[in-house]
Amino acid sequence: MSHFLLDGTPVPFAAGDTLMAAAQRAGQSIAHLCWDARLGPSGACRLCTVRVDGRLAAACTTHAQAGQVVENRTAELDARRLRLTQMLFVEGNHFCPGCEKSGDCDLQATAYALGMADMHFELLAPQRPVDASHPDLWLDHNRCILCKLCVRASHEADGKNVFAIGGYGASTRLLVNAPSGRLGDSALQASDLAARICPVGAILPKRRGFAVPLGARRYDSAAPPEAPASASGDRDDAH
Ligand code: SF4
Repeated sequence: MSHFLLDGTPVPFAAGDTLMAAAQRAGQSIAHLCWDARLGPSGACRLCTVRVDGRLAAACTTHAQAGQVVENRTAELDARRLRLTQMLFVEGNHFCPGCEKSGDCDLQATAYALGMADMHFELLAPQRPVDASHPDLWLDHNRCILCKLCVRASHEADGKNVFAIGGYGASTRLLVNAPSGRLGDSALQASDLAARICPVGAILPKRRGFAVPLGARRYDSAAPPEAPASASGDRDDAH
């Protein structure tokens, strides 16, 4: 089997593998927020940016080739990841102390893993509506990081196309495919992968908030999201 080098460690890959897929399968960690092994790649979050033979590339969309020299955990790349994470925090309203996803959130765990101690940028403080029209789910656009995981899950796994991304630039938003644009008028069900895959606190089940005690939440004890799924405890939706 062919190999590439990830921070000096040989990683085997199969034809068609991306760097991310091969690394995850080999138990190597590359930071990510928008990648999931069950879905096609997106390239939205850019957390997985590595240097491939000296050039920046997203590990989730770059196909592995024999002999590639891939740099991942360097000070330069982790500094880029920290800035990207800070941008995601200031773009939305991520008040973790009042969020039901705290301790179970990939964005928050990534920030901890990168040693993020402040926002660095000015808070944009958006005032987007919260959609509580669904009987079992609610959607807070102010926490959405536009990772498109729900979009891809609804299309590729659920076959419903409930979600899409619309707008452009700073006004880009998650859209709900219903005549009213409301979650309660869509075909989304709580059992759908699209309803369970959100890595942050944007799509959440109703009547289940704060059910897990502090100390027992996923990231109170499990590895951060850049770690391989096998090391991430008993999570429902392994990334
Ligand atoms: S709602 Fe969640 S899964 Fe969907 S795009 Fe926003 S952050 Fe990603």
